[in-house]
Amino acid sequence: TKNYDYLIVGAGPFGMIFAHEAAKRGKRSLVVEKRPYIGGNTHTHTEHGITVHDFGAHIFHTDNKEVWDYIRKFAEFNGYQNQVVANYKGTLYNLPFNMNTFYQMWGTKTPDEAHAKIEEQKQIALKDLGDRQPRNLEEQAISLIGTDIYNKLIKGYTEKQWGRKATELPAFIIKRLPVRFIYDNNYFNHRYQGIPVGGYTQIFENMVAESNGLVDVLTDTDFFDYKETLLSEFPRVLYTGMIDQFFDYKFGELEYRSLRFEHEVIDSNNYQGNAVINYTDSETPYTRVMEWKHLDGLADEGKTIITKEYPQEWDRSKEAYYPVNNDKNTQIYKAYATEARKSHPEIIFGGRLGKYRYFDMDQVFNDAFNTVRQEFGIDQEFNFAHD
Ligand code: FAD
Repeated sequence: TKNYDYLIVGAGPFGMIFAHEAAKRGKRSLVVEKRPYIGGNTHTHTEHGITVHDFGAHIFHTDNKEVWDYIRKFAEFNGYQNQVVANYKGTLYNLPFNMNTFYQMWGTKTPDEAHAKIEEQKQIALKDLGDRQPRNLEEQAISLIGTDIYNKLIKGYTEKQWGRKATELPAFIIKRLPVRFIYDNNYFNHRYQGIPVGGYTQIFENMVAESNGLVDVLTDTDFFDYKETLLSEFPRVLYTGMIDQFFDYKFGELEYRSLRFEHEVIDSNNYQGNAVINYTDSETPYTRVMEWKHLDGLADEGKTIITKEYPQEWDRSKEAYYPVNNDKNTQIYKAYATEARKSHPEIIFGGRLGKYRYFDMDQVFNDAFNTVRQEFGIDQEFNFAHD
């Protein structure tokens, strides 16, 4: 019965930022969220004093100062830097590929030695290829980095991620393989990085709390149970669910990869000594094991919580995580996006499911700012962090 200005479907980062910023401009929103909590895939909860990320490790990293200053208005960040270790059949390597990895792989100690080794490996692969282009992911990866790193650190992991042999995967999945000729295990190349102390969910709770009562959230509420009524009652809608589902899959179904997470509480102070360990062989059924306390630098006596991440085929009964951006899906997405503009100009389709794109959190924040700019006629120069 309240006079809402916006219906927002999905209480993930995109929806919550929009609701918060609309409230600052005096607009009232109703957010419907099908899950029992807000925060979308960034949702975290606390157990045994440890912050657990429910949908895989979320490390905030960005070069965008506006986004970095903005998010820190809603939570304090620690100085966590992601440093991933790979376990290949019991031998450990540092990631991403850097001087530590090359030393562990070949015993090379200087950048020149490492360069020469990679060049030597690449030349063998390029000779095998002759003049033709790499036809699949395996050929592509070997031509970029050689066989040793490919076989031990890329092949098994990638095949598990995609559920297909590397020789059956398209070459375009790997465009470049960044290598660093310095001893530096920092996974991300971004200036700002960290984890919110106490988790991500508080960020979105604080956005609601700081909205002058203009944001109402209904959890456990699936938009599709009330679609027609909601659309007829709300003048303007922000939809962050799956775009193909909105149109009842009339142009076909967009494909995703899914994941299954297995959480375990373990009676140990320190189970694996690192937040993330990747299992890069093809036999281990999971791709990574997270030990959450290391994201917070906690060393509490007693318990620890780990999560194993298993890739799996997606179907409509499972969570959709990674879009499969091949030609077929790109065409299908374009058909939906065109239809959306034509038949529903009153609806903004946003976020990773509404746009069928993999977005890191900072990209979602930036995209949400741009949507707010557009919706409220705000200048490009306007800085949301200083508002
Ligand atoms: P979401 O967070 O997915 O929110 C959409 C919300 O809409 C969900 O809560 C959903 O339940 C709801 N919804 C959907 N349909 C309906 C409906 N019909 N009715 C009601 N509600 C509905 N990013 C990083 O920056 N760093 C990382 O380290 C990182 N790690 C990641 C690891 C994994 C395994 C995954 C999958 C993603 C990771 N990301 C990471 C990306 C991050 O999760 C996204 O950027 C972010 O969640 C996108 O926000 P969103 O609002 O677009 O979508």
